Amino acid sequence: MDQGDGSRDALLHHRVVLLGELTATDAALDRVRAIRSGGQDDDEHDPDGAPLSGEWSRLEGNRRATITRLAEIECALSDLAHGSYGICIDCGASIPEGRLEVLPATRQCVDCSSRAG
Ligand SMILES: [Zn+2]
Repeated sequence: MDQGDGSRDALLHHRVVLLGELTATDAALDRVRAIRSGGQDDDEHDPDGAPLSGEWSRLEGNRRATITRLAEIECALSDLAHGSYGICIDCGASIPEGRLEVLPATRQCVDCSSRAG
């Protein structure tokens, strides 16, 4: 009963998906950047500038969230390699398999996670 292999597959799959999202977000940011630099610099005074800025903020937010999740997955993969995967970093309890299936990169059990939140 080596639960680690399934978790590793899930983490690697998540990482591929997230890297794909990151690539798509970067491409979208490039497009917005090209539109902004292609026209007037002071697009903040342009009525069309506002939606573009909003799109920029949204994409930047997505990008940061994706990078955070990628970092969590890297940590979980490192835990797997060191045999500490699935162990709560706060109380040392085993994290239930069901929770790891939903949140493969989590490092806290349900109790500690809800206490921290
Ligand atoms: Zn805990």
